Amino acid sequence: MVRALFPGTFDPIHLGHVDIATRASKIFDEVVVAVYDRPLKNLLFSPEERLSLTQETFSKILNIKVVGYSGLTVAFARKIDAKVIVRGLRVISDFEHEFRMALANKHLAPEIEVASLITNEQYAFLSSSTVREIASLGGDYSRLVTEPVRKALARVFSDIENNENLVHQTYLRD
Ligand code: ADP
Repeated sequence: MVRALFPGTFDPIHLGHVDIATRASKIFDEVVVAVYDRPLKNLLFSPEERLSLTQETFSKILNIKVVGYSGLTVAFARKIDAKVIVRGLRVISDFEHEFRMALANKHLAPEIEVASLITNEQYAFLSSSTVREIASLGGDYSRLVTEPVRKALARVFSDIENNENLVHQTYLRD
């Protein structure tokens, strides 16, 4: 049995992530989608919200499990006995980052392979920051995310609109 780990920030999870996890679930016996608790990023959703939106997304796919994690990704992979780390690749700029991270992970845990799946071309432009940016500016993001995520984004941005003390900033870089 080969277990794969698909780690990420998922702030929030979108259809590009869903596509990668679903395709991985057809290659590997089990995929553990792991929501990293505190990345060095500007976050919109709390770790608990990101985890519960991601869990809801995959609740009907039997061989996809969703958990939260903290610390080193390879340490977590070892802990759950995952032999493979799955990542998604969109554009060349992703490649540089993913390449360096894969080599660093290989250095730390040579027994764990990194499998990078190329994005489905219809999602090549899609990132969590793009979704947040569109949502913050009142655009239509309903075809980029699942319905629970759409509702969560609508709630957050209506809270921000109704409360002048809340300021949201987003950057077009994941
Ligand atoms: P991280 O902070 O770990 O990069 P993300 O949630 O931004 O977390 O992304 C998790 C993984 O999903 C990364 O490997 C990223 O490249 C991949 N990914 C994000 N968006 C897409 C997309 N549209 N198509 C394919 N892979 C994607």
